[in-house]
Order: sequence, then C-alpha cells, then structure tokens
Amino acid sequence: MATMSVRAKTGIWLAMSMAAACAAVPPSAAQGPLATETADNALDERALHAGGNELRIEVVGMPRGARSDELQRWAAEAANATLTAFGRFPLPNATVRVEQIDSRDPSPVPWGQTLRRDDVSVLLYVRRNAGLEELREDWTAVHELSHLFHPFLGGQGRWLAEGLASYYQNVLRARAGLMTQAEAWKELDAGFGRGRRERSGERLDELSRRHRGTMRVYWAGAAFWLEADLTLRHQGSSLDAVLSKYSACCLRGTGQTQPEDFVDALDRAGGGGVFRGLFDRYAGSREFPALDGAYRELGLQSGENGLVYSRKPEAERLRRDIMGAGSSSREARAR
Ligand SMILES: [Zn+2]
Repeated sequence: MATMSVRAKTGIWLAMSMAAACAAVPPSAAQGPLATETADNALDERALHAGGNELRIEVVGMPRGARSDELQRWAAEAANATLTAFGRFPLPNATVRVEQIDSRDPSPVPWGQTLRRDDVSVLLYVRRNAGLEELREDWTAVHELSHLFHPFLGGQGRWLAEGLASYYQNVLRARAGLMTQAEAWKELDAGFGRGRRERSGERLDELSRRHRGTMRVYWAGAAFWLEADLTLRHQGSSLDAVLSKYSACCLRGTGQTQPEDFVDALDRAGGGGVFRGLFDRYAGSREFPALDGAYRELGLQSGENGLVYSRKPEAERLRRDIMGAGSSSREARAR
C-alpha cells in the first residue's frame, strides 16, 4: 500500500486549499508531480550516512554540475539538521528526491510530500530559479524530513504527524543554525496563534480525519509535542531520547500504525505514560490547548508587540536545551 503526506502551498496540485501544507491523501490521488516526466533522465545521486543508516539524495533531471551541487548541498543541510535529534537518520534507508519545476509560486519549494510505498521517499519540488539562500530559509525540507520520525498514522493521526513535523521543523532548524533560537520560538508562537483562531468546536481527531481545520490540526499537534517534550525534560529525558529509542525498536517507514498504538509504543520506549496522558486530552479536544503552563515554564510571554523572553536562568536554560545546538542530540545518543 502506498501512503503519503502531501504539502502544497499553492493549492494547484490536488486542488488543495491555500492553507493546506502537508496533508495525507490516499494513493489514488498520486498525480501531479508524480506523473511528471523529466525531459532528461540524468541524475545526481549521493548518499549520506549516520549511525548506520543511509539517506540517499537524488537530484533528478539534470547532470552533475553547479546547480545539482547547490541542490545537493541544500538537501544535505536539511538532512543534517534532522541529525540534531539523536545523531542518526530515523530509518535504515530512505530517499530524498529533488526535482525542479516551473512555478510562479513565491515559495522556493512550492510542493513537497512523503511517499511511502515499498520504501520511503521524501519528494521536494523546487522552483527552477530558487537560489540557495532562499532555499535555506524555507522550512519545507526539514518539515518533510521530520515526517520520517513517525510511521504513517492515517487521517485520524494526521494531527500527530503534522504536529511533530511542525514542531521539529523549527526545533531542528534552530539547532542546526538554519534559523536563530528566537526565530524558532517566534515561529512556534505564531503557529499556535493561527491554530487558536480555528474555532469550529470540533474534536481535533475528527478535524484531522476529515482534512479540515488545517491550522488547528498542525499547531495543536505541535503543542502536543512541545508539552510532551517539556514533561519528559522534567524527568531528565526528552522527546529526542524517546524518538531515538522508538526508531531503534519499532519505527516502520511503510504500512500504517494506529495513532493509539503509536503513542503507547512511545510510552514503552521511555515515555512512561506521558504520551497516552496527553493523547487522551488532545484527541477529543474541541479548542486549542491552553499553553499557559508551558509558556510560564519556558519564560515566554506572547503580547501585542511580539514574544517577550524571561531572563530567569531556569527558563533560559530550558529554552536553550530545546533549541540549542548539539545538546539534545548528545543527550539522546548517550541514552
Ligand atoms: Zn507535513
């Protein structure tokens, strides 16, 4: 069975809405760029290795040269950002496929998706005239690569999948120096604001299953992972550490896992009940979660003039532990 998550900024592909970013769609919808014939079958293929796992990067439709070097460098930088979680790629084997497209979309990466068939591929469609610097500033590649940390969770678990990718796209890029720590907190805070504005009153898992309420699905999902991370850090662990153990024991790149089974497996991999407790609170929630406790602990205050950071040492340390370069991956590797 092929399963995938799709991200579209323009809404052109698959007739997705402007607000849609990365949504699970059934295999029958695998059209658009998947059907694209490249004029040139040339391929620049390279492989990255970390912790015994391999990530192949293919730049298709062009011979090896200055542009393919640039796209390889960009993809490798995004892939290396994901190593700040726990020092290895989550799956033994996966492929990143980069293809150029003509697009009037202002985004340098108008379209991306994670395709799960016999193996797992992250497909990134790059605007032909996108420069390296604008590619580096874009979140798409790290978002899509973050989907490799979880199994396919179906529509009902889309909020968990998109939430993890939305949380990690900021955390991992900050750790890798692709954005500052302050920018990462600002992006998360702005996302939570967008999620809060969705007030349909519907259950989160129901919105997720019906592909509605994208902003609440993504950002309530991100809030779930932030809250889990904070609780685990109280216990001397971290989200990175649990995902590291989960990837070693249980992660499957293909096939489908029920959301409840996923959170229970995370609890067995060191979560100790944290994930199930939060899951039971979040899945049936009808409004955006209150993050007052989390913000207090992190020393963050969201106001009209933007985000204000407390100077309290324990809050500063916690923020740095999450977003800071290297610390989390070293801890996770040591576990
Ligand atoms: Zn996504």
